[in-house]
Amino acid sequence: MSNTSQPNPSSLCFSQLPLKPELLSNLVTLGYEQMTPIQAQSLPKLIEGHDVIAKAKTGSGKTAAFGLGLLQKLDVRNFRVQSLVLCPTRELADQVATEIRKLARSIHNIKVLTLCGGVPMGPQIGSLEHGAHIIVGTPGRILDHLEKGRLNLQGLQTLVLDEADKMLEMGFQDAIDAILEQAPKERQSLLFSATFPEQINWIAGKVLRNPVKVEVKGAENAGTIQQAFYRLDSQHDKRDALTTLLLENQPESCVVFCNTKQETFDVTEHLVSLGFSALVLNGELEQKQRDQTLVRFANKSVSVLVATDVAARGLDIDKLDAVINYDLAHDPDTHVHRIGRTGRAGEQGLAASLFTDKDGHKLLAIEDYQKITIEESTLPEKSQQSVYQPQMATIRIDGGKKQKVRPGDILGALTGNGGISGKDVGKINVFDYCAYVAVHKGAAKDALAKLEKGKLKGRTFRAWRVR
Ligand code: ADP
Ligand code: MG
Repeated sequence: MSNTSQPNPSSLCFSQLPLKPELLSNLVTLGYEQMTPIQAQSLPKLIEGHDVIAKAKTGSGKTAAFGLGLLQKLDVRNFRVQSLVLCPTRELADQVATEIRKLARSIHNIKVLTLCGGVPMGPQIGSLEHGAHIIVGTPGRILDHLEKGRLNLQGLQTLVLDEADKMLEMGFQDAIDAILEQAPKERQSLLFSATFPEQINWIAGKVLRNPVKVEVKGAENAGTIQQAFYRLDSQHDKRDALTTLLLENQPESCVVFCNTKQETFDVTEHLVSLGFSALVLNGELEQKQRDQTLVRFANKSVSVLVATDVAARGLDIDKLDAVINYDLAHDPDTHVHRIGRTGRAGEQGLAASLFTDKDGHKLLAIEDYQKITIEESTLPEKSQQSVYQPQMATIRIDGGKKQKVRPGDILGALTGNGGISGKDVGKINVFDYCAYVAVHKGAAKDALAKLEKGKLKGRTFRAWRVR
């Protein structure tokens, strides 16, 4: 593998790339001018047709990097599946498809289809019959369609493995192998990931040909994050330590990372029993629950999210006040990725890690990787603070995109005609069949009354407070 470590400074603007004019003009309307570092490093190679293996942290713009690469090559008149993007979860596949559609807005008649597990087959089969240029989905479901002969990859030009490390961790290896068998050998393959654990080399060797390797280090950035490490006598003592840290710091948005699903359930149950506003986020959740959980956390009506690494991948949140590693991550790369979500944009956040004597090798690996010396911190005395509650409440409305409900309609219904003040309205999320709006707790009752009596798009929809 050849390494391109430094971006070429003269190519930091998209306009300097040999991209199709319609892609470039659309980027202007999207407000994308400067490339992010991972885009600056990977896009020129991608456009030249190289296979690329790229690593950069969450939120660094990896989707647009491979998205523009595959759109550049795509011939919209050739109505076959030309690009396939594999993602670990439906959540991520949806985000990728949305971003690609945005980037492709200026290309007429382009079809992007998502194929994920956990949703009914019927509509997918129907959509496949109509054909698509780009497919984004999870490996299991895509393999299923391939095996039933509903999907044909003979025209495939670009294969993307997004969040490849997580796909391996989730056991999609066999499904990916089986999909590869049905893909043409002559193709461009791209692998994107937030971390590069060992097995990545293995999959890269199988999927990629003479790849260019690009890497944007997150470690320098994470190096500026003030970290605290707390030693505990046993796994069980972590509960009180976590409670103390939450009470002392009162973070509005905090992710607590655990290494197993069972631990996420146990820790959540414990926090809830103490009165904390906490929800679990792991692979066991049904998609609807998962969407709702992410919405409530992001709109600040839930303060603590107890998550596994895989489940937290799709989290699209600007800045976390705190990240607490209930368990230390298995590798330092993941550790840095976790804490990289706190203290964004120069603001100081809390990055705390709990460990026991069993974790010696993990601490050494972090020191080595981050080039830091870990000093143990002492936990505050049992906190005298009382359990705190979030400022916002979430209201769910039983109408969404399919009923033509838009965020503006909801805002209008809430604030119009002597309604609540606009500054009491927080995030609004509209899904296909439902919508969520966050409001300040003090205004929740009035907001609900407005929504129940008032009309959206000429109709009344059921609305209730999510607890
Ligand atoms: P990653 O896959 O690396 O986690 P995403 O591809 O989801 O990150 O991008 C994060 C956000 O940055 C998205 O909201 C995307 O629209 C935005 N973004 C990507 N590239 C640019 C750019 N060059 N300029 C401005 N915003 C960008
Ligand atoms: Mg991504």
